Amino acid sequence: MTHDPNCLFCRIVRGEIPAVQVFEDEDTIAFMDIFPASEGHALVIPKLHAANLLEMPDDALTAVHRSARRLAAAMMRGLGPAGFQIRQFNGAEAGQTVFHYHVHVVPCYPGARPGLHGRDQADPAVLAGLAGRIRAAL
Ligand code: 5GP
Ligand code: ZN
Repeated sequence: MTHDPNCLFCRIVRGEIPAVQVFEDEDTIAFMDIFPASEGHALVIPKLHAANLLEMPDDALTAVHRSARRLAAAMMRGLGPAGFQIRQFNGAEAGQTVFHYHVHVVPCYPGARPGLHGRDQADPAVLAGLAGRIRAAL
């Protein structure tokens, strides 16, 4: 399936739900997580629908991880964290809540190890500012 009309991230791909985008290319979109685990937490998704790692075609998997590395490099330059985590969950019991494959890129700052998911919904204006700083460092 290339698109699932009931899937939240497919709806972001089609522009039916707004997201604070950092960049997109032919196969992927990078955008800010709305419940960030740390300042600058962003997601990379394939434009095609695949529920999890086991459903991902090889070329889409390569494209997502290439974009995740590009995002992480710009995040390091633009936001200046001390490091970053790549997270990816498969199945509800593993902590997956959106069943469209995605990779989390979570910046880590000194003295503040980020938790699993953020508790508070971020202000879109704050997310736009962070996305702009990352984008400027692409
Ligand atoms: P999972 O637990 O499935 O790996 O993570 C799903 C992520 O998607 C969570 O970090 C959550 O905050 C994020 N998320 C859920 N709904 C939305 C949304 O509507 N917009 C954005 N930008 N992120 C979302
Ligand atoms: Zn989807």
